[in-house]
Amino acid sequence: MNFHIMTLFPELVDTVLSESIIGRGREAGAISVKLYNIRDYANNKHNKVDDTPYGGGMGMLMAAPPICDCHDAVCKNIPADSKKHTVYMSPKGKILDHKAAVRLSEYDDLIILCGHYEGVDERAIEEVVDEQISIGDYILTGGELPACILVDCVARLIPGVLADSVCYEDESIASGILEYPQYTRPYEYRGRKVPDILLSGHHENIAKWRRQQALKITQEIRPELLKPDTD
Ligand code: SAM
Repeated sequence: MNFHIMTLFPELVDTVLSESIIGRGREAGAISVKLYNIRDYANNKHNKVDDTPYGGGMGMLMAAPPICDCHDAVCKNIPADSKKHTVYMSPKGKILDHKAAVRLSEYDDLIILCGHYEGVDERAIEEVVDEQISIGDYILTGGELPACILVDCVARLIPGVLADSVCYEDESIASGILEYPQYTRPYEYRGRKVPDILLSGHHENIAKWRRQQALKITQEIRPELLKPDTD
């Protein structure tokens, strides 16, 4: 799967997405992350990409022409028969969840627009964006960190990024509930011991204990996950 990120801060995104599992997934060729600097499409003497909003108001808005020209350049690098989709990271979007990550992982090419300042001219959204996605009900200074979060959670669903797909199927939310508590060495730490059942070697009982713990934690922290799905 190919991620194409349109941003004013490509180094910031590249740094985050070069480390650890996602970095290794890129190196192994399971995913690619291509960065496009919107400023390269400014087409004016001072490479200006923002301007004051019509009608007045605080701050600056990212102008439509560099965004749309950048998007045209991205699309030129994508084969015509590829399944592609453009997302704008925005607090006005639907909130990102595991279901959305699974749906987005089915595209061949995911183009992600990062806003900055007060956001972007609405006409750029109308021209190039298929969907707006928010990472939560709070406001960040830019779409770069939200884009990294989106790439991280979609990329780990792509075969070859995680060592084993069971890794994510068993995890909190993806499994439908929250995960059971996990322990590693040492056996005793600050007076707290690992539950005996985990040392029993009895796989069936361990699985039963983990299921009970997972349900207990879900009931305590996210009881709504235990209600039947209505969508
Ligand atoms: N004026 C905009 C509004 O009220 O909806 C907020 C602009 S915000 C300061 C600047 C940029 O950060 C946005 O264009 C968007 O790309 C990104 N951003 C901020 N909060 C976000 C969130 N919760 N989820 C996704 N992107 C976000």
